[in-house]
Amino acid sequence: MFYLKVKRKIQCLICPHQCILQEGKAGICGVRYNIGGRIRNKQQGLLSSMAFDPIEKKPLYHFYPGAEILSLGGFGCNLHCNFCQNWQISQVAELDHLHGKIFTSAEVIAKALERPSNIGIAFTYNEPTVWFEFMHEVASLAKGHGLKTVMISNGYINSAPLEALLPVIDAFNIDLKAFTENFYYEMAGGKLAPVLESLKLITNYKKHLEITNLIIPNKNDNPEQFIEMVQWIRKELGKDTVLHLSKYFPRYKQNIHPTPEDTLIQFYELAKKELNYVYLGNVHQSRYSSTNCPECNQVLIHRNGYKIQWEPAFDGKYCPNCKSPISLIYDIVT
Ligand code: SF4
Repeated sequence: MFYLKVKRKIQCLICPHQCILQEGKAGICGVRYNIGGRIRNKQQGLLSSMAFDPIEKKPLYHFYPGAEILSLGGFGCNLHCNFCQNWQISQVAELDHLHGKIFTSAEVIAKALERPSNIGIAFTYNEPTVWFEFMHEVASLAKGHGLKTVMISNGYINSAPLEALLPVIDAFNIDLKAFTENFYYEMAGGKLAPVLESLKLITNYKKHLEITNLIIPNKNDNPEQFIEMVQWIRKELGKDTVLHLSKYFPRYKQNIHPTPEDTLIQFYELAKKELNYVYLGNVHQSRYSSTNCPECNQVLIHRNGYKIQWEPAFDGKYCPNCKSPISLIYDIVT
């Protein structure tokens, strides 16, 4: 949907790379091609996986907590993080074959409607930006069926395509990898500034937003830079923005040791000075994954892995103890 003819080539305008493609060639993401003078994702509708997941797994903790959501993934990514935790589906240049099954958007909707307890569709696992047209089509159809839609993304997308998605996507989890251009350039092959623009655009559009930050030892665990990042989130996006701090494990081209839990707890405490809702991911301590009232610290939703337990008196809107409003999207899901 977003491209420009440049003499006999085509420029893809989906993400900030803005690749200029000769006939038959793919862009940096490895899946969007110039075919016959138009941009095509050769793997359109080819799903690497499809499953009904707990929404906590996305992670989204303040959007229908405890619900399940049909989650779809394809192949490819427009960033090339050397620590990618999902490289078997995202880094297509490394793969001999893409194993999956092709679905039409109508088949995805039918699958989503199969299970009455399912609240909607999540575009996740790999980077959904690279199959923009498929995501837009499925999400538009989903809205007509009353389904919720969720995008789990690196946020590396141009403003115009993001603006086209905003009316049909209800909630986002955006990966904010670090707060320096140097990290994005050296570790991910991209830039920080466009990700910050995406975060601001989603917030201005008043869509539900949660952020994930994977903390990698000696790469993005500088406390001063981290404080700068959470202060930016508070100032630009608001104190109620949900932040997930995730434990890193060695994957793909990186063999740095996993993030020590002490570091994660230290960063959790730093973030809590600026933001109301902070969680630790890939750490099995329910204290750091439960939702507490930011005013009186009453536990409202207790989490143990993906299992959740509501405080019986909590109505999803106000703390039953001190009556403070709680920033959370929830209505009864049967
Ligand atoms: S989506 Fe792919 S082809 Fe398009 S600009 Fe980004 S990396 Fe290049």
